[in-house]
Amino acid sequence: MILLISDLHLEQERPDISRAFLHFLETRATQAEALYILGDFFEVWVGDDAMSPFQRSIAQALRQLSDSGTRIYLMHGNRDFMLGKAFCREAGCTLLSDPSVVELGGERVLLMHGDSLCTQDAAYMKLRRWLRNPLSLFILRNLPLTTRHKLARKLRNESRAQTRMKASDIVDVTPSEVSQTMATHGVHTLIHGHTHRPAVHQLMLDGQPARRIVLGDWDRQGWALQIDEHGFEQAPFPL
Ligand code: MN
Repeated sequence: MILLISDLHLEQERPDISRAFLHFLETRATQAEALYILGDFFEVWVGDDAMSPFQRSIAQALRQLSDSGTRIYLMHGNRDFMLGKAFCREAGCTLLSDPSVVELGGERVLLMHGDSLCTQDAAYMKLRRWLRNPLSLFILRNLPLTTRHKLARKLRNESRAQTRMKASDIVDVTPSEVSQTMATHGVHTLIHGHTHRPAVHQLMLDGQPARRIVLGDWDRQGWALQIDEHGFEQAPFPL
């Protein structure tokens, strides 16, 4: 059994979400061969060298799961794209690049965070290109911590003043971008998060049925997609 989650936006200010996640790790996730976390796992990440005790406790909980035999894969989101190798070592997880194609439930599946599919937001796409450039990342990582905190705050404020992102605040994916990306990777299943609009969308790709599964965010409830002998199924659960 495989589990996929995304957009937990973990932060100290939401102990209900962290508690639910720790419970998830100790119960359901121990039954899984692999756990995929498709981005925006943390609400904010300014660098592995600035881990808070809260963030460290999450890393330790992941490590426990990975030591017990569940493989953990982590993909960057637009909030935690600064997560690096040091965190992954500590947490016992493997960093997955965005996009990645993996074999799940007997088929090739494309995994993405999803922000790169929201091409309508031209300003964000431009910022994203800059932020994901290795040279920019090098500069960002070497800025003083106070400057990084200030920048992170600014980035968050730009989207919406310190409130949690509702689906209506987030630009949705561009359908043509979805088809093109799926065709490029030769897949008929895409799984992503980011938009906070959990759903399964059916589409046609080169005359064949295809699907786009959108993972839910953890806010008023938690979401997990489970892949097992019964297929792909996502369900919410109370926090
Ligand atoms: Mn996101």
